Amino acid sequence: MLKPRQILGCSFGFVSHRWKPYSNTCTSISTTSGTLSFLSNSTCSNPLLSFSSSSSTLLPATTATWPSSTRRPRFGALSLSSAPSGSNGGGSSSSVAVQSAGNARKINFCQSCGGPTKHEIPDGEEKIRAICTVCERIAYENPKMVVGCLIEHDNRILLCKRKIQPSYGLWTLPAGYMEIGESAAEGAIRETREEACADVEVLSPFAQLDIPLIGQTYVIFLGRLKTPHFSPGPESSECGLFALDEIPFDSLSFSSMVVTLKLYVEDVRAGKIKFHYGTINKRPGTSPSDSHAYTLDYHLQS
Ligand SMILES: [Zn+2]
Repeated sequence: MLKPRQILGCSFGFVSHRWKPYSNTCTSISTTSGTLSFLSNSTCSNPLLSFSSSSSTLLPATTATWPSSTRRPRFGALSLSSAPSGSNGGGSSSSVAVQSAGNARKINFCQSCGGPTKHEIPDGEEKIRAICTVCERIAYENPKMVVGCLIEHDNRILLCKRKIQPSYGLWTLPAGYMEIGESAAEGAIRETREEACADVEVLSPFAQLDIPLIGQTYVIFLGRLKTPHFSPGPESSECGLFALDEIPFDSLSFSSMVVTLKLYVEDVRAGKIKFHYGTINKRPGTSPSDSHAYTLDYHLQS
C-alpha cells in the first residue's frame, strides 16, 4: 500500500485506511505471449496461497526472464520467506499515517503522555521541536521509508492500478510503508503480496530515492514472481504486465515511480542494470499533482 501525501506526484490529502481481510474476490490474470487475459470468478481467499486455478489458465511456474541484452546486476539473490512478519500477520497492515515534511508546530500533544507541547529549539540543536511540557519528551520527526518491488516477467513490468486515494486510478509499482519489525526487502515482498497478490523473490536493490520535501525515502528492489500468478489486491483495481514501451508514463501515480521506471528503462536499453541513488526535488512553480514536475538530483549509480 502506498498512501503517502505525495506532494510531487499526487494531490494533497490525508488518507486513513484500515487494511481489510483478504476476503475480496480477485481477478486472476493469465499471462500469455503479448496479451493479458483477465479472468474472473476466482476467489482470492488468501493471496499467500495463490488462487484456485480451476477457472483460470495459469501458466506453469517459471522464472522471470531478463532481457537477453541486459546484464543483470551483481547482487546475490535474496530469498525471503513470504510469510507475514510481525504481529500484523497477513491479514492486516499498517494504517499508514501521512508523513509530513516535518513541522513540529503541528504537534500539539505528547505521544507519550498526552500532555501539551511547547515548541522550542532544545539545547544543542538547531531545529524547533515539539517538547512535552509534562514529561519533557521531545517529538523527533524522521523520514518514512517506502519499499516496493519492480518485477519483470516475460520482459514486462508488473504494475498496479490504485483503487484508493491519493492517485486513484493511476498506475504504480507495488510499494508501501515499511513496517516496524520487518526489513526493507521483507516489506517490499509484503507490499507486493498485498497489492498484487503476488508471491515474489527479491533479487537485488535497484533504487534509493529520497524525497526530502515530504520526508520519504523509497527503496525499490528488483524482484521476480515465484509463480506466474497475480491479481489485484484490495487496494488495486487492476494489475498488469507492461512491456517497456507500453509503460503508462502519463498515468503513473508518483514521481518516485516515474523516476524508477525511467531509470529502469534506460538501464535495459543500455544493456546494464545499475543501482541508483538520487534525490527527487519538486521543480519550483510546478503543480503538486504533476508527477513529472521533478528534478533528480545527486544521482549516483553503480
Ligand atoms: Zn509527555
